[in-house]
This record gives sequence, C-alpha cells and structure tokens, in this order.
Amino acid sequence: MKKISIVIPIYNEEETIPFLQNRIINTISKIKNYQFNVLLINDGSKDRSLEIIQNCRKIDKRFEYISLSRNYGKEIAMLAGLDYAKDSDAVIIMDADLQDPPELIEKLIQEWEKGYDDIYAKRISREGETWLKKTTSKIYYQILEKISKIPIQKDTGDFRLLDKRCVIAICQMREQSRCSKSLFNWIGYHKKEILFERDKRIAGKTKWNYSKLIQLAIDGITSLSTAPLKWISYMSVAFICFSILYAVILGLFSLTGKIISGINLLFLGILFLSSIQMIFISILGEYLGRVFQETKYRPTYLIDQINGNKHTNQAKENKDEQEKNHTSDFNNYHYFTN
Ligand code: UDP
Ligand code: MG
Repeated sequence: MKKISIVIPIYNEEETIPFLQNRIINTISKIKNYQFNVLLINDGSKDRSLEIIQNCRKIDKRFEYISLSRNYGKEIAMLAGLDYAKDSDAVIIMDADLQDPPELIEKLIQEWEKGYDDIYAKRISREGETWLKKTTSKIYYQILEKISKIPIQKDTGDFRLLDKRCVIAICQMREQSRCSKSLFNWIGYHKKEILFERDKRIAGKTKWNYSKLIQLAIDGITSLSTAPLKWISYMSVAFICFSILYAVILGLFSLTGKIISGINLLFLGILFLSSIQMIFISILGEYLGRVFQETKYRPTYLIDQINGNKHTNQAKENKDEQEKNHTSDFNNYHYFTN
C-alpha cells in the first residue's frame, strides 16, 4: 500500500484543530487503498495548540506531531514536515484553518496516479481576504516572476501533493530564508493544476500581517535572484551619465555669464545622491545578511519533541545514519560532506 503523509503547519490554531481533525478523518476514511498519516507541525504555538494536537493523537494514532523548539514561521515548519515525511510515497501540504478543503485530497491523488509529480491547487476565488492583500500579492508575484525568470503559479499557495522525488529535492534545499513557492517551481518535474474555491478561515485569525508579508517579499526576491544587484550597476552608470550631463549644463550656463545660485542646488544634489546611495547600500546589505545567515551552517530548525518524546537535535558524523534519520540531522549533511 502506498503511504501518503499530510503535512500541516500549525501556529496558534487552538480553535481550528478539532474541526481540522474531523474533516480529515472523514475524508481519508473514504479513500481506500492508501495508508495515510497526518503530520501536525506545531510551530511554537503560544496557545493550547500543542495540548489539542496531543489529544488528536490520542483519538487517532494516524495523527503524528512534531513540536518545534520555537516559532520559525510557516516556511520552516513545512520543511520540518517534509523532512520527517521523506519516506512516504507522496506528501500533501495544507493549512490548518481549512481554507484548503481536505475533500480535494482524493482529486490530488487521482492526478498523482496519472503520473504527475506536483499537483497544486489553484484558487478560483479567495473568500475572506481583503482587496489590498489580493492586489499586493498579485503585483508582488508578477515582479518576482519577471526578475527571477522562474514562472510562478498564479493564485496558488502551498496546498499541493508532492511525489516523493519532489519532497526529497526540496529537502535538499536548506536555505534559512525560504520562499517555497519558488522552490516548488525551481525543482521542475511534471506539474498539474487543479482548481478550487478557497474558503474562509474556519475559526481563529490569520497569522499574516503586512510586516511579515514585506519580509516574505524581500526573502522571495533576494533568495531567488541577484537582479537587484545588477540594477545597482545599471543605475550607477545612469547616475554617472547624469552628473556628467549636469556638469556640462552648468559649464554652458557659466559661459553665458549667468551666476548659478549655489547652496540650495548643492544641498538638493547631495540629498538626492546620498539617498540613492543609501538605497544601494541597503540592497547590498540584504544580500550580505543572507550570506551571513547561510554561512553559519546552523540547522534550519530545532525540534522539541516528536509524538511526545523529547528530541535532541544532535549532529551525526556518519552520513548513512543521518540519512536514515528523518529530522533536523539532515541539515548537517552538507556540513559534514563539505
Ligand atoms: N503558520 C505557521 N507558522 C507561522 C504562521 C502561520 O505554521 O508562523 C501556519 C498557520 O497555522 C496555518 C498556515 O500556516 O496553518 C497559514 O497561515 P494563515 O492561515 O495565518 O495564513 P493565510 O491563509 O492568511 O495566508
Ligand atoms: Mg489561512
């Protein structure tokens, strides 16, 4: 029997988890011939989520959980789930708030059985999201697609089924600042789109706010592309040309005998150029910051417990042993082989 894992990142979802468990049990009990397990990743929740997750396991042993040592963000929580589920034949990623309907799982599996590797669900409607969020995310993904030159699926989140080989490919990408949307595209393989209506959150509140979104946007652009660094070079050439032109104009003015009124113009020039410089430096800083983060070779996350057992995140020097191990020890693979 093929094994399918459903990976669900969870952060402060005490209200939604009971609904989630019911809907999932209902759905998977109707799908025969597959062995399911549901992997709940507690991403350092501060409410009663962990307690409720533990209860889910008491009710149904197919529910497993990993509790991370703190809140790492959804991207890293998903990676922890994928690391743990590497042995499954396929992994389905979905949100805890039932915005991604579990009833679609059957359709995802049907397409997988046809031979597709990455079956992603595209929303035809987005209930309960503000106009501003929809518009800004649309513009952002258009820009990201243009500058990274990797096609990004429109109106698509992380809700998808990944074949084992996609999961293994994604687990090999250990960057700390992750943009899964672009990683899913980067790996390639055979993709298939299915359409669905995205529901409202069943309960609780969205964890997103604009500062998180801006951070995700910066991560997305700087982890995917060095285009902003090129813009700096283009723009500096443009500025040099502009200053030469400006100097020529000033020269011509002085030839006609007019006096150039100085101090205000000078001040404006300095202000303008120094603000441009500051933008350039901050772009450079973004990349430098990333290099700094990645060269620390830190594990991407630490696990506090797995199914109630305390976990020690210890690096293993033996590569075979690391590969057998599902969890964050995988991180150290690169470290010890470098
Ligand atoms: N989430 C997480 N860690 C975080 C924030 C969110 O694991 O730091 C989970 C959250 O519990 C949910 C999913 O990511 O299962 C999507 O979050 P949310 O519904 O708040 O985002 P939205 O659907 O509004 O984009
Ligand atoms: Mg949501």
